[in-house]
Amino acid sequence: MILLIDMDAFFASVEQAHHPRLRGKPVIVCGDPSRRGVVTAASYEARPFGVRAGMPLAEARRLCPQAETVEGNPGKYIALSVRLLDLYLTYSPDVEPFSVDEAFVGLAKGVTLDEAEEIAGRIQSAIEERFSLGASIGIGPNKLVAKMASGVRKPRGRTALDEDGFRSVFWPREVQEMWGVGPRLAERMRSLGIQTVGDLARAPESALEAAFGVIGPQLREAAWGRDDTPLVPYHQTVAPKSMGHEVTLTLDSGDPAFLEGTLLRLSDQVTRRLRADGYSGRIVTLKLRNHRFETCTRQQALSSHTDDPQRVFEVARELWRLNWKGGPLRLLGVSVSGLERVATENQCELFDGDRRSRSLIEALDRMRDKFGEASVVPAGALTHEIKLRHVPFGAISTHPGNERRS
Ligand SMILES: [Mg+2]
Repeated sequence: MILLIDMDAFFASVEQAHHPRLRGKPVIVCGDPSRRGVVTAASYEARPFGVRAGMPLAEARRLCPQAETVEGNPGKYIALSVRLLDLYLTYSPDVEPFSVDEAFVGLAKGVTLDEAEEIAGRIQSAIEERFSLGASIGIGPNKLVAKMASGVRKPRGRTALDEDGFRSVFWPREVQEMWGVGPRLAERMRSLGIQTVGDLARAPESALEAAFGVIGPQLREAAWGRDDTPLVPYHQTVAPKSMGHEVTLTLDSGDPAFLEGTLLRLSDQVTRRLRADGYSGRIVTLKLRNHRFETCTRQQALSSHTDDPQRVFEVARELWRLNWKGGPLRLLGVSVSGLERVATENQCELFDGDRRSRSLIEALDRMRDKFGEASVVPAGALTHEIKLRHVPFGAISTHPGNERRS
């Protein structure tokens, strides 16, 4: 039996737990509230107003003007997340973090569904008692069922399903509720007459394979509540805390186009390392040092994990635009932290959402594996090569900058 423990409105609940004045009130967690931004998390009190994570902050404020806006503190959430994992370890050695607020816990062989639910109840009470936080727990015979069950009752819910129970709950539901089926994949399924999870389960395997490739039959198995993905306890791997690249410029530069090109290149290198080592991260850190050796470091948490160069670049660029005062810079750095192993299940989502950009990234990786880092570089980084004699590649011998990996 496997549990998926999902913290309820994690960031917002942490703020409510730490600041009594926020308890029972609509709370929006965001980046810097004085600037334009997006909602990172909304408390359950804010959700009836339509406030959702990922929505522009301005829109959230319009929907719920009385909400308290709190600047998020990623370091605090990650520290808490680690303490939660420690708590889970007192119930089972098999704990696999899935995201900053979700973890799988594998129970010993022979534990029944009822016993697993009872253990889940004890874990919920312990979380409440120790951290004043709520969690919803899905309980099932495999990761897929546990994960999907965790969303059935929230907040502070507990849902135990065996494969039969999974079918009776999910077969009538829209196919998009399947883990790994995003809006676009669901759209394509609907065009084939697959509306519900039950339709997917009963669709002919050959037709699914013809339409979706190898993932088709896999999704059909999943629709039956079957999944044999192993749980990987996190103590088996020592994860790095962050990955980053920084470059000291040969000449201090205040040229926005050149600096932007450099950020693009750094983002590209960092995410390439993430992909090579099988990680994705959710906190982007920008480091700037000016000609007076004053250093500024700024972080931004993303709504989800990523190893996509464009997404990291866009955040790094936003941080740079907000924090660069316009003077000459001598050092730029981009790093990604809040790392997690890329779970194989996530591949399904990739198939749907950004299949083309993903295939492009992978093709570029293969090309660089074969022909070297300098073989392909982002055009945005290349355009300033001639002007500033800056070779926009990674740490290769001809590079004029003093480059460092951290
Ligand atoms: Mg959650």
